[in-house]
Amino acid sequence: MQNENDDKEKKEGYENCCAMCRRTESAVGKLMKLPQNIYLCEDCLQRSFDMVSATIKPEDMEKFPGNIRFVLPGDGLMQNQPQIKPKKKEAPKTSPETEPKMDISKLPAPHEIKARLDEYVVGQENAKKVISVAVYNHYKRVKNQNLPQYQDDVVIEKSNMLMIGPTGCGKTYLVQTLARLLHVPLAITDATSLTEAGYIGDDVESVLSKLLQNADNDVERAEHGIVFIDEIDKIAKKKNTNSRDVSGESVQQGLLKLLEGADVEVPVGASSKNAMVPMTTVNTKNILFICGGAFPDLDDIIKQRLTKSSTMGFNSELKDVYDKDPDILSKVTVEDLREYGMIPEFLGRLPVIFSLQGLTKESLMRILVEPKNAITRQYEKLLAMDEVRLFFEKEAIEKIAEKALKKTTGARALRSILEEFMLDIMYEIPKDSSIGTVTITADYIDGKGAPLIELRNR
Ligand code: ADP
Repeated sequence: MQNENDDKEKKEGYENCCAMCRRTESAVGKLMKLPQNIYLCEDCLQRSFDMVSATIKPEDMEKFPGNIRFVLPGDGLMQNQPQIKPKKKEAPKTSPETEPKMDISKLPAPHEIKARLDEYVVGQENAKKVISVAVYNHYKRVKNQNLPQYQDDVVIEKSNMLMIGPTGCGKTYLVQTLARLLHVPLAITDATSLTEAGYIGDDVESVLSKLLQNADNDVERAEHGIVFIDEIDKIAKKKNTNSRDVSGESVQQGLLKLLEGADVEVPVGASSKNAMVPMTTVNTKNILFICGGAFPDLDDIIKQRLTKSSTMGFNSELKDVYDKDPDILSKVTVEDLREYGMIPEFLGRLPVIFSLQGLTKESLMRILVEPKNAITRQYEKLLAMDEVRLFFEKEAIEKIAEKALKKTTGARALRSILEEFMLDIMYEIPKDSSIGTVTITADYIDGKGAPLIELRNR
């Protein structure tokens, strides 16, 4: 238990401080530890004893020697003591090999960022291009904002982004890949878990404590990080409601100051504020916020606007054209999003808006085999560790993609389908050391046959 508590304190990276006078260990010397993780300095300890001896007569003390109690926080004695914030301990330096950090002076150019995203994310060409440029501009602005030659009237706005695209098309994956490539901390949160401060749920600032945690409590690193808020469409303004919209419009309102750039008090090592959690200040001015959502039915709003805006009476023909347009989301405007229920102030703080496309059978097939860490490659590697070679027939890949397409959860379905088919193979192979090669056939995926097994040449 002792060790556990000590570990916790170390993890939080804060010095212990006296519960009465709030002075830190480095200022007053070793503190005495009392139950429930309360620390007292020598001075306050002495003062407590003095109080006890002043209020209890010596003869009573003799009668009740076990009844002497320490004066603890909340007993009134602490009032009027100056509140000194605990000083942050020097964070232990991690070696660059274990934790590479972003070197802002070596910011890759947009085409380089995109080329690296290409290695992992299939398709979504426009989204990758937009995000590469926005991220490049964002960090360029961060890098140069304090240089004297740029201190003029032209203030470059933050390039916070809004990504619109169906479930499983790679929104989260794109942001995760980006953060990994740039070596910046990333916090992912779900807008549905956020509520207006004071209500059950996380308040919007909890995102920043996650980011701080992911930056190993290094405030400076966190201030250059990325926050991804998923399911942002779920905090659209509720229509026709008389009750207070604590998880919709109010959350949008709450996010405004974070998106814009503000000093925010953030609990360290916990997601909620309370008296026992140390706080630190994080400035969000240079944090890149990316919001993502599927925005179901937004296409109807876009189609309606497009058909209405055509001046001639070809409405039904036009509706047909738009109904068939697989990329209708790319025609989204701020007006459509306002109609959907996003408030103008919120949209105003997300200047870069772009869409991702739903995945086709061809892109699902490519996702299975092309990315650097494609799922099929992961299985190949796992079996190679048992010295077994794994092959997938092209037709088998096609069948898996077809099955995934039916599930309407985008590329997420691929892994679950493949796992289902690979389970028996992964179970059986280690049993039999004579197996040298396994080929996944289309018939196997169709349930009409078994995978092709070849034995090792002895
Ligand atoms: P969402 O758009 O709902 O956030 P995700 O990004 O979570 O979807 O995608 C789920 C998984 O599907 C990812 O972890 C990734 O493995 C895979 N995936 C989705 N889209 C792509 C893509 N375009 N390229 C490569 N993998 C993808």
